[in-house]
Amino acid sequence: MGKLIIIGAGGVGNVVAKKCAREKAVFSEILLASRTKSKCDAIAQEIGSSHVTTAQVDADSVDELVKLFRSFEPDMVINVALPYQDLTIMDACLATGTHYLDTANYEPIDEAKFEYKWQWDYQNKFKDAGLMALLGCGFDPGVTGIYTAYALKHHFDEIHYLDIVDCNAGDHGKAFATNFNPEINIREITQKGKYWKDGSWHEIAPLSIHQPIEYPNIGPKESYLLYHEELESLVKNIPKLKRARFWMTFGEAYIRHLEVLQNVGMTSIKPIMYEGKEIVPLQFLKAVLPEPSELGENYSGETSIGCQIKGIKDDKETTYYVWNNCLHQDAWSDVRGQGVSYTTGVPAMLGAKMMMTGQWKQAGVFNVEEMDPDPFMKEIGGYGLPWNEKVNGPLAFADYD
Ligand code: NDP
Repeated sequence: MGKLIIIGAGGVGNVVAKKCAREKAVFSEILLASRTKSKCDAIAQEIGSSHVTTAQVDADSVDELVKLFRSFEPDMVINVALPYQDLTIMDACLATGTHYLDTANYEPIDEAKFEYKWQWDYQNKFKDAGLMALLGCGFDPGVTGIYTAYALKHHFDEIHYLDIVDCNAGDHGKAFATNFNPEINIREITQKGKYWKDGSWHEIAPLSIHQPIEYPNIGPKESYLLYHEELESLVKNIPKLKRARFWMTFGEAYIRHLEVLQNVGMTSIKPIMYEGKEIVPLQFLKAVLPEPSELGENYSGETSIGCQIKGIKDDKETTYYVWNNCLHQDAWSDVRGQGVSYTTGVPAMLGAKMMMTGQWKQAGVFNVEEMDPDPFMKEIGGYGLPWNEKVNGPLAFADYD
């Protein structure tokens, strides 16, 4: 049992706060803090419990964070603000003796580039302080890494091929909207694609490799090869991988809008002068797009995210597919959120529970696949994200060599 700070009150923060608030035996007191306090207050009001309080904080400022942490004295923080704040929040954890968990790796605001290096560099500092930092505990990254660790523990001696397949077959009724923070989402999708093969990274033009993939209960959906952050840690932590790729579905309308926005310069992160003031086109675009937290009420359809794996067990070729399907409307009924926020926020809550109860507890900086997957896999279904598995069934890909 311990005290928890949640930073960020957007789509994911709403889910994390509500799910954690129901676990009173684990999180004795919760402080929800974000840049805009009124958003925290609205969530806390819906929770309606005196053990959840709110605060305003600018998480870009280590001093502000340290002041807040010193006044609340948390045992751990769940960071569901933006990737830009990861390092300042980790610094505040070190200054105040607080454990750390996030769902997205650090990204500098002025460069569309994410990698774990910046956070892995904190390894000795966290280890020496006896603190734990758990990186990327959403769905992808997050559950996809835990699925892979579970597969390796129970179904394979060696994993050779890993394809993470992520489908959102939902309809929110808007012409164009992103399911998580628009700025981060568009930066991720417009960068070059990349996958791991035979010991090195292979780069491709953005969205240039795609194919239909069959998703359970959904059917075939055009899926695009992207670079996604969990590939970096999985390649490091899963031995003998020959190839690792990540696929995500996009509808035609989404791709068309994105193409136009890119062509007219609206996705650029280079500042421009507008009426005597410097603005960043992508930040302006974010301001006019719907917020992820607004999409839930009329969202229909479902997500399907999983890992398709091929490798060796007892000297025989084995295949394994493990996945979750999540209905947007179930997310709405549970926490008044949408499916993408839900599939991120529920694993963050459960990861924090694993840390708070000592089931995952080590000093240093870790990715989720380094943890024992069993206690997490045992509980995640009960919190709304049940998983399915198929051993030695057909996989979506024919190109294994
Ligand atoms: P939102 O944009 O809905 O929410 C972000 C929240 O962070 C907002 O409340 C925002 O405040 C707050 N925030 C931003 N900057 C600061 C700051 N300087 N100080 C304090 N608070 C700040 O995004 P989402 O909820 O959709 O995403 C949250 C995180 O989850 C992102 O990092 C995203 O990449 C990650 N994610 C991870 C996934 C996974 O599966 N691993 C999937 C989806 C998302 P304000 O309201 O004032 O703007």
